Amino acid sequence: MLHHDRQKIAEYGRRLLSDRLTTGTGGNLSLALRSEGLIAISPSGINYNDLTADAISLLDFNGRHRDGLKPSSEWHLHVELYNTRPEINAVVHTHSRFATTFALLHEPLPACHYLIGIAQAQVIRVAPYATFGTAELARKTTAALGRDRCILMANHGLLAVGADMPEAYDIALYIEEVAELYYRARCLGTPVLLNEEEMDQALLRFRDYGRNAGSNQATAPAKAETA
Ligand code: 13P
Ligand code: ZN
Repeated sequence: MLHHDRQKIAEYGRRLLSDRLTTGTGGNLSLALRSEGLIAISPSGINYNDLTADAISLLDFNGRHRDGLKPSSEWHLHVELYNTRPEINAVVHTHSRFATTFALLHEPLPACHYLIGIAQAQVIRVAPYATFGTAELARKTTAALGRDRCILMANHGLLAVGADMPEAYDIALYIEEVAELYYRARCLGTPVLLNEEEMDQALLRFRDYGRNAGSNQATAPAKAETA
């Protein structure tokens, strides 16, 4: 099981590159293996194409290194999120182009498309800036995220969380797409935003969408898990 989970990190890391959600070694991703008391996280500064299951770092929930290569510099952030949000088991952090463009401007992504609701939020907010890889960044970002599932990180990138890796990954992917559409619409004119009630209706629909049908959890559109 542990091997399978570590392989999944490597596989989704490569998807970050093929889906153009990151460049080089930017971003990081992790899974909480709660029954084992471990967090599997991508190693620091290693190209995703070179990742093997054994290279994936294992930490405990206090952030102590247990196995694999040196963990991502953002291990504080991943550990803090899992300790604060017991319902999430996957974290994806990217520097994807369009979401990060708005993060540079400290501009939240408003309700320009119903897909914003994939993050269980009316708007994708911006967490305050702190130096990458610090406990301060972990604290500020976790506090700003609140109960949402996605946030922009000022002058840095995007963070998505989910109950599992397909969900966290899809949130990162779809919010990047919404950021691109919003950017394009802003180039041509003034996008018309959905109002609070329209977004509430969209949020309700997400509860029964795709693989979440029948559950009470509002989550992402379905995408077949490949691992
Ligand atoms: P790591 O390679 O250490 O994960 O760093 C990438 C990053 O995105 C830092 O914020
Ligand atoms: Zn980063």
